[in-house]
Amino acid sequence: MTEQACRECHRIVTGSNCSVCGSNSLSTDWSGFVVIIDPSRSCIAKKLNIDIRGKYALKVR
Ligand SMILES: [Zn+2]
Repeated sequence: MTEQACRECHRIVTGSNCSVCGSNSLSTDWSGFVVIIDPSRSCIAKKLNIDIRGKYALKVR
């Protein structure tokens, strides 16, 4: 299964839609990822505007 990254929220998804924001603007051209376990205590999550835990790409083209 191909992992794609959402261009809107950077969430890494395996379906055809983003499970977080519902966007279908997905990219296979992404690099690096972070796993956010506790969004309220993660400064990376704040930087990327993430409030739901999961796996997110650092760079999405
Ligand atoms: Zn999204």
